[in-house]
Amino acid sequence: AAEPNSGKTYVIGTDITFAPFEFQDVNGKFVGIDMDLLEAIARDQNFKYEVKPLGFNAAVQALESGQVDGVIAGMSITDERKQKFNLSEPYYDSGVVMGIKENNDSIKSYEDLKGNKVAVKTGTEGYRFAESIAAEYGFRIVPFDESSQMYDDVKTGNSVACFDDYPVLRYGVEQNNGLKIVTEMEKGGSYGFAVNKGKNQELMDKFNTGLANLKTSGEYKTILGKYLGEDG
Ligand code: GLN
Repeated sequence: AAEPNSGKTYVIGTDITFAPFEFQDVNGKFVGIDMDLLEAIARDQNFKYEVKPLGFNAAVQALESGQVDGVIAGMSITDERKQKFNLSEPYYDSGVVMGIKENNDSIKSYEDLKGNKVAVKTGTEGYRFAESIAAEYGFRIVPFDESSQMYDDVKTGNSVACFDDYPVLRYGVEQNNGLKIVTEMEKGGSYGFAVNKGKNQELMDKFNTGLANLKTSGEYKTILGKYLGEDG
């Protein structure tokens, strides 16, 4: 007998630009580690889906209000999110790091942020981390919706630094985005796929089974290598 939801097209929310996890290629197609993993898992587990690039915070809110079935967006697995969402097995280890302008030689540590502005992205772990040390180091937070807007604010010199996920900032720096990293990564949560608690359990089961299959087949490693090179 056919599975009850076999004909369903799942709606999956994602970030707009969070390379190398999701971004548009030259043809406007959404690509990246998250997009390729989802595509391969859907093929392996035989389900249909549609991706909605809403932005990170908007995607998480859309999930909470039931407007999307799932979110894959370099979303860190945290205790707070586990209260609201059902998170998959981790698929990539991450953490928060500080980025500063490439030609800035005066910021070497959090102490140097004193009296300055720091760009953060609403609804992210980077925001939470910056907020948690803002009073101690005496800086002010400037919130943005997109990672690219944060980077621009640092490049124009309005903010002296930003906090974003290490693999994303490192990828950007390697692509000459005008920033550099001068501090160590803070310990952070691994990325997971999210559905609402008590909803779309079959989708979560398929994601986890598909992910395990991709790890066994070597396709998981191939996808990471495609975006991160050999040491990905
Ligand atoms: N990993 C971070 C978080 O979950 C940022 C995700 C993102 O900006 N797409 O908060």
